[in-house]
Amino acid sequence: MNPSIIESEKQDWKNQLKHSIKNISDLIDFFGYDNIKNSPYEFILTKEYLDVFEKIQQGFRFKVTRYYLQLANINDPFCPILLQVLPHPNEIADPYFKDKDPLKEEIHSPISNLVHRYPDRVLWYISHHCAVYCRFCLRKRKVSNPASNTFRKNISDVIDYIKNQPTIKEVILSGGDPLSLEDDSIESILHQLKNIPHLYSIRIHTRMLVTLPHRITKNLCKIFDEYYPITVVTHFNHPKELTEIVYEKVRLLRKSGVLVLNQSVLLKNINDDVKILEELFLKLIQFGIKPYYLHHCDEVQGTSHFRVKLEKALDIIKELQGRNPGIAIPKFMVDLPEGGGKVPLTPVYLKEFDREKKEYIFYNYEFKNLYRIKDL
Ligand code: SF4
Repeated sequence: MNPSIIESEKQDWKNQLKHSIKNISDLIDFFGYDNIKNSPYEFILTKEYLDVFEKIQQGFRFKVTRYYLQLANINDPFCPILLQVLPHPNEIADPYFKDKDPLKEEIHSPISNLVHRYPDRVLWYISHHCAVYCRFCLRKRKVSNPASNTFRKNISDVIDYIKNQPTIKEVILSGGDPLSLEDDSIESILHQLKNIPHLYSIRIHTRMLVTLPHRITKNLCKIFDEYYPITVVTHFNHPKELTEIVYEKVRLLRKSGVLVLNQSVLLKNINDDVKILEELFLKLIQFGIKPYYLHHCDEVQGTSHFRVKLEKALDIIKELQGRNPGIAIPKFMVDLPEGGGKVPLTPVYLKEFDREKKEYIFYNYEFKNLYRIKDL
């Protein structure tokens, strides 16, 4: 492992957050002016880029931890780490996607900070902070903006709402990153939720394991253990993100009874390749994380440069079948615009129904041969 990564592990998570990279001059200090000048990222040093960067900052901020940036390769024009975190001019001049909230979360918000789209679950926005601001974020309209952080003002209203809706079986703690809160705040929320008898599941959506694994401390795991069972859904997009420290932290979580799942986003030039995804999903199971969802990138304003054609996405999913064990293939999900909700998308293996013989005709997983199944 890179010695500087080992060095950074010695720092605690709050210290890492305090010393994260937040502007161009931090980036120049981190990589070195000459190294950037002689790299495919030379554009970072231009006045044009600085102007665009400043404009983008006024909406969705730039921030990345030193740990995460140490995984980057400044000489790779398609570095999967840099492409996820560097602001892109398209963010303020997107020719295709204009809607900041295409999933219509705000319309499905009966009270502030709560999204209630499906009868069985709610999503609670409990923090506007993240360790890294991912440029493809679906909630970039609020994330990184302190004005969106009203969570502490209506905790009891949210708890009362959930208590009064017995159809709610699951609460998803999200944001921003819920693990950017202090341990005692997380414990207090878990305590209140665990006292609601009709809740079956508490899920925490976090990218900390990816961008600041140091956040997974013994004390946090002790809290998760106390409120067993907790599901942590993390967000790895590329095999480079799975490091030794991540392995140790996943072990710690699992020893505390936490179910660890992963959702990835399919991102152009970052992971829209069957070999990269094959490796990512295999490494995830090797690390003790079940690949749960692969998302089609949502139509959020300023993110169309990340979007992969659906046809290509389906080809990738088709190719994964038979390459990876079933446990290492996530569901491919499309979140429909206008708040239509999530639907899984799979290649269609059913060719037709033979009415005369009363048989279904299927392609096999390679789409090479046909097989018949009697409909009794
Ligand atoms: S960690 Fe999640 S919420 Fe935060 S910026 Fe990235 S995608 Fe958005």
